[in-house]
Amino acid sequence: MGMRRFDVIIVGAGAAGIGIAAMLKELGVERMVVLERGEVGSTFNKWPKEMQLITPSFTTNFYGHLDLNAVVASTSPAYMLRKEHPTGREYARYLKDIAEYFDLPVIEQVNVEKVLHSGGSFRVHITKGNPIESRFVIWAAGEFQYPNINSFAGAELCLHNSLVKSWKYVKGDEIYVIGGYESGMDAAIHLSRLGKKVRVLDRDRVWSKRTTDPSENLSPFTFERLEKEMTHKRIELFGQSVVREVSIEQGRYLIYVKGKSLPYQSTTPPILATGFKSSLILVKELFDWEKEKFYCLLNEEDESIKTPGLFLVGPQVRHDDLIFCFIYKYRQRFGVVANAIGNRLGLETELLESYRDEGLYLDDLSCCGQECVC
Ligand SMILES: Cc1cc2nc3c(=O)[nH]c(=O)nc-3n(C[C@H](O)[C@H](O)[C@H](O)COP(=O)(O)OP(=O)(O)OC[C@H]3O[C@@H](n4cnc5c(N)ncnc54)[C@H](O)[C@@H]3O)c2cc1C
Repeated sequence: MGMRRFDVIIVGAGAAGIGIAAMLKELGVERMVVLERGEVGSTFNKWPKEMQLITPSFTTNFYGHLDLNAVVASTSPAYMLRKEHPTGREYARYLKDIAEYFDLPVIEQVNVEKVLHSGGSFRVHITKGNPIESRFVIWAAGEFQYPNINSFAGAELCLHNSLVKSWKYVKGDEIYVIGGYESGMDAAIHLSRLGKKVRVLDRDRVWSKRTTDPSENLSPFTFERLEKEMTHKRIELFGQSVVREVSIEQGRYLIYVKGKSLPYQSTTPPILATGFKSSLILVKELFDWEKEKFYCLLNEEDESIKTPGLFLVGPQVRHDDLIFCFIYKYRQRFGVVANAIGNRLGLETELLESYRDEGLYLDDLSCCGQECVC
């Protein structure tokens, strides 16, 4: 790998890692590397084949609004792919093209196992090869490749939605889906399109929530698809259904729901769409954690309050009730992280100002959280 000591190591070449790498390169950070366990955009390549981005892409750049799914200024997945809702594989192509066009220093097939911090420096341990040192680490390893399969007893008997290559490989005519947010609804819609009956069990009733924050309720894209699919009467939604346990008896899956005396029964493994543990489990000791909602505590530069020099980019960034879990949200913090690192490396950071208009640099969070009036 040549040089073993860097100014910046970015872990993960997904949407967040590629976006921040491009900005740091523009800023003039030279001794930087992006370590990626698979290939650029590998999470998106792992999405079920039918899954599309729920956030729409559109060629809005011409009139000063960056495409909602773009991670780099002056780029647009809508323009490149001619798609409003790209599939995962298509979006991975966008990321790969960005990495090539901007000649980003990505090293693929390098798995980061752990990160140690001492004496103001980081030591990043990789699966094959010697540890690599760096002054700063940007954690951008995402969530998708770290499914949560411990949400209740027997959850491991279910099929986590992130492990489905295509919905057409799911056997059976009647499928239970546990979890009714975006992943669960996406599963239900695709299974119904294949002619299967689907029962969605959700602890709340996500489909009834109404706020303007898509981190709290379903997206318009999903409502629209769901409404259309519901006309075929194959999807049933069960709210207030807290699954306590799944077990298997004589080849049948028994799904026990709180307050219901008899379990639901299924001949096929229920689909588990209850979320992700997040890659942060690999570096959890380097962060302090909010005790009730369990998110990592960051300062106003999105740096760990426990470990100076460790930054977080991506959907796990959270400040109180502001959850940055979509591309168009978390990309706005790229400028904040680039500014912090640029200043500490003694670089000229004025050029970052132009990113404010592009929606890539938001440091004043008081403007977020407005509800729509209609
Ligand atoms: C099912 C689902 C649907 C979503 N749909 C949308 C949507 O429509 N619109 C939207 O804006 N957001 C969506 N999101 C949010 C989504 O998480 C992000 O937009 C995006 O994938 C996050 O980008 P990322 O770079 O943080 O993570 P990822 O895309 O997961 O990238 C992380 C990268 O890090 C690599 N990596 C992981 N661990 C290691 C390691 N130990 N060592 C080295 N490399 C590692 C991975 O291989 C991967 O390439 C969705 C999320 C999920 C789970």
